[in-house]
Amino acid sequence: MSPFSRDLIDLPASDGRPVLTIDLAAVQANWRLVRNSAHGARTAGVVKADGYGCDAIHVARALKVAGCDLLFVASADEGRALRQDPQLDDIAVCIFYGCMKGDELDFKNNRLIPVHNSLDDYERWKPFWFDGPDPAGFALHIDTGMNRLGMSADDAAAIAADPDFRSAPIVFAMSHLASANTPQSPQNDEQRRAFAAAASGLKTVHPGLPLSLANSAGVFLGADYCLDIVRPGIALYGGQPISAKPLPLEPVVQLHAPILQVHHVGPGETVGYGGTHTTARKSRIATLPLGYADGILRAAGNQGFGILSGAKVPMVGRISMDLTTVDVTDVPESDAQPGSYVEILGKNVTIDQLGAASGSFGYEILTGLGNRYRWRHINQPDPGPSAGR
Ligand SMILES: *Cc1c(COP(=O)(O)O)cnc(C)c1O
Repeated sequence: MSPFSRDLIDLPASDGRPVLTIDLAAVQANWRLVRNSAHGARTAGVVKADGYGCDAIHVARALKVAGCDLLFVASADEGRALRQDPQLDDIAVCIFYGCMKGDELDFKNNRLIPVHNSLDDYERWKPFWFDGPDPAGFALHIDTGMNRLGMSADDAAAIAADPDFRSAPIVFAMSHLASANTPQSPQNDEQRRAFAAAASGLKTVHPGLPLSLANSAGVFLGADYCLDIVRPGIALYGGQPISAKPLPLEPVVQLHAPILQVHHVGPGETVGYGGTHTTARKSRIATLPLGYADGILRAAGNQGFGILSGAKVPMVGRISMDLTTVDVTDVPESDAQPGSYVEILGKNVTIDQLGAASGSFGYEILTGLGNRYRWRHINQPDPGPSAGR
């Protein structure tokens, strides 16, 4: 018995393009798994970078139907794009970058929640919360050791001491873990304590202030890290947050590439640019219509693999811009014909596996998914008009 699943999803007749399938029911199932692990915390969804390359609108709609009421994106542009969608009208949208100078009114008009990353951000926002109507509020990001984004503990203390803060429409305070995917790292506990200390001043003014620390990996560090709001990203898209402790996540992205051509190659011949693979035996080499221009990283050459008819087919030779070659010698000839679909990502090959084979990780595989694929979103919770791609 092959260890690899043969039950391919329903694939369309080949038009020569690889088929990229985003399963929105899998996004919902993964979100529920995180929520059920979050010790009662409000479970947001991170949909920055176009929903980790999976189309932010489709992902956000699926999350909303699953019960998610809070989204995070990086930039104001990403937030405005979500706000264009009437189906997402009543979902809260937070902007990690905060509000750039001059963008304040637009934030208010679009009900975007800026995450202030400095005392200056906070001061600049003040006139806009005093001058209603109906502000969506703001959040504060306190840096606790990442040294990337967020304000110092001193800035947070200055805000807590500001008399105006008493009437401030603050929604939550957050920090971000640098090493959550390494549960044994002492940095996790250090950051947790630093955040609690910095937030305690804010909480003397706003006792009910919700706190947020955990990304996907942080959720699985336990209740001490989940606090009031969790901010999962990668787990929603099927990426393992902690590789040493795999979760039963469903694959969201499936990529199937149809064979273009099969080459019969004798032993001792080379394949592709630079001749980096030499056949050890009489071989059949199948050529697939995707390459590094489509997000199959060049480093996956001679490292990655696909699945065809339940068998592993190794990527042999270099990845080209538009082409990848796999060795299909172990697959019956009748199953390895032009048009036969090879699984590159899906039930048998995870984004983490392709990431590792590429000297990278699942996040980079997702956010690099190519535009030349035949994209489709399946199991849409609401069969409204497709946002397309
Ligand atoms: C991207 C991001 C997240 C989500 O992280 P994952 O590891 O994908 O779960 C959470 N918080 C912040 C501040 C982020 O930038």
